[in-house]
Amino acid sequence: PCLPEPRAVSTNQALFERAQLSIPGGVNSPVRAFRAVGGTPRFIARAQGPYMWDAEGQRYIDYIGSWGPMILGHGHPAVLDAVIRAAHEGFSFGAPTEREVELAEEIIRNVPSIEQVRLVSSGTEAGMTAIRLARGATGRSKIIKFEGCYHGHADALLVKAGSGLATFGHPTSAGVPPEVVQHTLVLEFNNIEQIEETFKAQGGDIACVMIEPIAGNMNFVRASVPFVKRIRELCDQYGALFVFDEVMTGFRVALGSAQSVYARDIPGFQPDISVFGKVIGGGMPLAAFGSSRKIMQNLAPLGGVYQAGTLSGNPVATACGLATLKEITKPGFYEALGARTQALVSGLTEAAKAAGVPFVGDSEGGMFGFFFTNHAGEGLPQNYNVVMATQKERFNRFFHGMLDRGVYLAPALYEAGFVSASHTEADIAATVAAAADVLRIEAAN
Ligand code: PMP
Repeated sequence: PCLPEPRAVSTNQALFERAQLSIPGGVNSPVRAFRAVGGTPRFIARAQGPYMWDAEGQRYIDYIGSWGPMILGHGHPAVLDAVIRAAHEGFSFGAPTEREVELAEEIIRNVPSIEQVRLVSSGTEAGMTAIRLARGATGRSKIIKFEGCYHGHADALLVKAGSGLATFGHPTSAGVPPEVVQHTLVLEFNNIEQIEETFKAQGGDIACVMIEPIAGNMNFVRASVPFVKRIRELCDQYGALFVFDEVMTGFRVALGSAQSVYARDIPGFQPDISVFGKVIGGGMPLAAFGSSRKIMQNLAPLGGVYQAGTLSGNPVATACGLATLKEITKPGFYEALGARTQALVSGLTEAAKAAGVPFVGDSEGGMFGFFFTNHAGEGLPQNYNVVMATQKERFNRFFHGMLDRGVYLAPALYEAGFVSASHTEADIAATVAAAADVLRIEAAN
């Protein structure tokens, strides 16, 4: 009775006010609320290709792509068709289907480190279970994660760095008791010496090291090749498992995912466990984790590590994922996507240079990031503290300037961006032109 009557035509602001009455903060996932950048979140009415339209009919070039899944753009005809056909056959059975096997086979075919996978419904579930599997397989309790990496909101992973070397982390969320994160060690990203010392002191107790290889939750920060190589060696030496969280990078930065990018520089490189989400579901709730057959045999019903899900391997979601994978495995797909993404980053870099605004950007495949640095000539940030020391207010003004000009970037400086195969050269050119305009004004103020 205290909720207002829905209105026929609504503005973003009216919808946001109404949403806040029935949903905490008005959103179902915090970043959507625009808290970091301020202003009113856009309520999206529909999307097609590289564009989204809000409740007021305003069009945006979309560089979020649902935070990664929409690698083909919105409403790709083949994917839409597969989803509609699957929906006609049934939404959910709670029994095995052939399509799950096909999707598992398709993931295995493209990622050589994986012999078996299990499908789940979210990246959080996949990451949480990967940790349980690593602990179950090694019989050890401790895990290492890195500052600035996000692996979903499982209790043991919501941890920030403690003070000093390899102290226990502190919970980053209320509701997570310190005892629950006492086995989570949080180290600095790209700090080889620190992880060497940690293994030296506690190597026999470490079940796994979990990493976002190209960290998209602190914008875009690559784990250096020597860092990844050293972690691989330390894990082998001490009997720990190396877990690649490829929820964001999987099938996004390359067909073989980020691990194939590192295998170019580290011959034979493979992680022990991989975690996927986003692209493999093509926009439907679907995620997965995979490993060698030997490690995966630890999972129920074969082994003692429990994991289950009512909607796991959902028939409509698997149809969406399979149809998406069918498109992205076509020859030349990643070359074209990578080139378009690079064109965006170099266009933005040129625009910033012309305006005299210190700026660095980077991309891999269809994922990109950029930073407003403090000085001209400063390189790409290598860890979380450096990312957080970049120009936040400048980013926020840039974000709003772009949004006003119909370009939808991630609403926080610590988020990566995504280009889809549906973005045209003209979309990139329009984006760069908008950026040049915004940066000219920024430089003048
Ligand atoms: N891992 C990484 C690297 C992610 O980026 C995310 C989500 N952005 C997750 C895990 C969690 O996935 P989900 O939101 O599907 O639970």
